[in-house]
Amino acid sequence: MEILRTPLLASAAIRSASTGTLEVKEPLNFWGGGRVKPSSKDAKPSEAVCEPATGRVLCHMVPCGAQEVDQAIQSAQSAFLKWSKLSGMERARIMLEAARIIREQREDIAKVEVINNGKSISEALVDIDIAWQSIEYYAGIAGTLAGQHVQLPGGTFAYTRREPLGVCVGIGAWNYPFQIAAWKSAPALACGNAMVFKPSPMTPVTAVMLAEIYAQAGVPEGLFNVVQGGAETGSLLCQHPGVAKVSFTGSVPTGKKIMEMSSKGVKPVTLELGGKSPLIIFSDCELDNAVKGALNANYLSQGEVCCNGTRVFVQRDILPAFLEQVVKRTKAIKVGDPLLDDTRMGALISRPHLDRVLGFVTQAKKEGARVLCGGEPFIPSDPKLKGGYFMSPCVLDNCSDTMTCVKEEIFGPVMSVLPFDTEEEVLQRANNTTFGLASGVFTRDISRAHRVAANLQAGTCFINNYNISPVELPFGGYKMSGFGRENGTVTIEYYSQLKTVIVEMGDVDCQF
Ligand code: NAD
Repeated sequence: MEILRTPLLASAAIRSASTGTLEVKEPLNFWGGGRVKPSSKDAKPSEAVCEPATGRVLCHMVPCGAQEVDQAIQSAQSAFLKWSKLSGMERARIMLEAARIIREQREDIAKVEVINNGKSISEALVDIDIAWQSIEYYAGIAGTLAGQHVQLPGGTFAYTRREPLGVCVGIGAWNYPFQIAAWKSAPALACGNAMVFKPSPMTPVTAVMLAEIYAQAGVPEGLFNVVQGGAETGSLLCQHPGVAKVSFTGSVPTGKKIMEMSSKGVKPVTLELGGKSPLIIFSDCELDNAVKGALNANYLSQGEVCCNGTRVFVQRDILPAFLEQVVKRTKAIKVGDPLLDDTRMGALISRPHLDRVLGFVTQAKKEGARVLCGGEPFIPSDPKLKGGYFMSPCVLDNCSDTMTCVKEEIFGPVMSVLPFDTEEEVLQRANNTTFGLASGVFTRDISRAHRVAANLQAGTCFINNYNISPVELPFGGYKMSGFGRENGTVTIEYYSQLKTVIVEMGDVDCQF
């Protein structure tokens, strides 16, 4: 097995790259401290990975088979023995160095993210910033991890030890490739675990950059590993006996499978799944802010955001004014080359996904919704972007709760607007979904804001804003949007376990 230690991408190549020029060379797997080419007979044929903005092939990804998965897990197991013996402060020092390197390379990483994912550079830079903030945040917590001391009768006492789980598997979606890898690895590593991460087969590149950065920062060889592949590789990871925990970000149907597979080994799982979140706009809101909130709730990352507020409930008396402003601003969104600073919406992840999103718009029209703007394929004037997967952002009016566009997660830039009359009615309608990831409310009435927040069945509620995700706060779902949390101090609970140690200070009492 040959291990390559040269960085995946020379930064000079990235700096000179524009859409349609960067080529990423194999291998994209990383374990044992370097990049590894799958060579076993069960490794699968390579798959082409396309650049969303141009449609051309960016790289090839070789899905890992059982032997590669085993090698990556063994590599993590040996790193775990070293890493888990360090103090929290020692781990923190290395993690802070990783965060520093990410800050230093943020523009290069963001550029690669854009080329692989299609989102605009202005957003990708924020994603990378959130990634290093997450690593810094958990580095700060690493040195504070502690147990409890409990006094028992007769001088006997007990204490608890917060211990790592072992090798954790992270499985990511394609919409925030680098950020998801950081959100999973930061708390895992802070608690003393090792990780094997599998990115989405559509966005295999930047997770490898994160692995290289951790290695450069000084983690033991094999602590953070990347295996490439799709469903088959993912299931091999979930079922491997050497894995202690699975943290998954993706769709509900895959989440159910992950839970089922992990249950066979009684492995704890964190599931960060999809959503169809409500955003409720009362007529006493500050309208300009509510319009901006609705745009943020629907159009970030081309609408490919799990917590998007895609069911926008607007109180009837402000509906015309709201629609006028929202449509005007939606039409003004600059769609196009995601590497340009002033582009606000890039390309969707793939041709089939674009067709699926456009299909939802067609279906909405058939069911009686009115398209107020957008919802069509968009062809930028730049010839190199002709093969890209662009569409114009869409506002749907005349929607009702039973329509497909209102019930199903579209995962594209399509906002469904629904009128309502009373608070009681809108709460009932907002909660009438199997999802429960996020929610939002715009109102100037402070009592109503808190009452509505308390009654919405969702893991997050934004009051007078939407789609901000500071690393200090727990993020995760209610109902079928999943369980477990990412971010915040609570995530430590999901990456560690407690051992109780009881210390007898007297003689052993025995009735036999
Ligand atoms: P997906 O479920 O198709 O795939 C997610 C990951 O799971 C990929 O890496 C995929 O290769 C892997 N996978 C697929 N089948 C598997 C199997 N049988 N066993 C193991 N792994 C398997 O989701 P996607 O299309 O990549 O992402 C979009 C979905 O992710 C949306 O539903 C979105 O809402 C959700 N998402 C949720 C969050 C969150 O934090 N709640 C964040 C981002 C995306």
